[in-house]
Amino acid sequence: MRAIQLTAPGTLELVEVPTPTPGPGEVLLAMAAVGACHSDLHILDAPAGVFPTPMTLGHEIAGRVAQLGPGVSGWSDGEAVAVYGILGCGRCRACLRGRENQCRTVPVGGIGLSRDGGLADHVVVPADRLLPLGGLDPVQAAPLTDAGLTPYHAISLSRDALRPGTCCVVIGIGGLGHMAVQILAATTATTIIAVDTSDAALRLAKRMGAHHTVQAGPAAVEQIRELTGPAPDGAEVVLDFVCVDATLATARQVVSTGGQLTLVGLGGGTLPMTPTAEGPPPVPLETGAVIPFWGTRAELAEVIALARQGLLRAEVQTFPLSETVQAYQQLRDGQIHGRAVLVP
Ligand code: NAD
Ligand code: ZN
Ligand code: ZN
Repeated sequence: MRAIQLTAPGTLELVEVPTPTPGPGEVLLAMAAVGACHSDLHILDAPAGVFPTPMTLGHEIAGRVAQLGPGVSGWSDGEAVAVYGILGCGRCRACLRGRENQCRTVPVGGIGLSRDGGLADHVVVPADRLLPLGGLDPVQAAPLTDAGLTPYHAISLSRDALRPGTCCVVIGIGGLGHMAVQILAATTATTIIAVDTSDAALRLAKRMGAHHTVQAGPAAVEQIRELTGPAPDGAEVVLDFVCVDATLATARQVVSTGGQLTLVGLGGGTLPMTPTAEGPPPVPLETGAVIPFWGTRAELAEVIALARQGLLRAEVQTFPLSETVQAYQQLRDGQIHGRAVLVP
């Protein structure tokens, strides 16, 4: 079968590999759709030794059941499924509570992160990672598993703060951000302020339910402040899907006293937080910061339910598997609006 593999740091190749066989407790899926996440670019850019090579990428997976491994039952041939991508140990305190995204033993285990992913004609996954699509189009379902799940989980962490009359700033309206805007609109009454460098992303944000859009740049803080009011008022929650120095600087200058900074992007910027005696603190007092990771399986079921209700729909650009390398290049160049989805 064909597979898109990370063969060396920075190198993504379309290769021929044997079709895998499902072992005990596993299922072979025929791939139907795979989302191209910006994290795959971070994986590509990572130094040697951080991720296994060769490894098939692709952690946003929807497929059809093709073969059940020994001991697996309950799935019918051809059934359309979404894959919960996290591979926790299943035994630690966090996993036992259903929080595999906080696993104490396997910190970032995942299909397409620590073992072969879905950018191929077939993939083998543990059977307990499958969720039924319930009639959803697999091209729509694939982005739900990360671009939908990660913001859903991030928003859940501060749902109690997102009351009527509050403001939530969403920075970075790409694959995750455009889903975040819809999830906020569907599940909260907060005022949504979308921020991006790209006009196309801001137009998308408006269509997805953002109340206000602000161009990222030197005037952004002042424009957001006009909407939220002056300190100690501000945005109760800031979701940063970029997390470079510039977006973190915006985030800390617009968050309210007692607000929440939710840092999802892997941009690697620095956020000073500790107060000094010399001047005003770098973040307002009582500000919290959280670094969410992906989400739980139960939350993915809720994300799928939102989509089935028609309240969450990914904006997708589809590509054949043979054009995967080009799709990632377009993602890097900022030419993807919403999510790129590879359709093997
Ligand atoms: P994306 O490329 O689809 O979207 C990024 C968006 O940010 C684009 O719209 C881009 O125009 C915008 N942007 C870039 N620089 C900006 C700036 N300085 N100011 C404002 N906007 C800016 O990426 P994605 O797939 O949505 O992923 C977003 C980030 O989240 C990535 O860093 C990814 O690795 C990370 N991620 C984290 C998790 C997690 O569990 N924590 C899960 C998935 C992805
Ligand atoms: Zn991802
Ligand atoms: Zn665990």
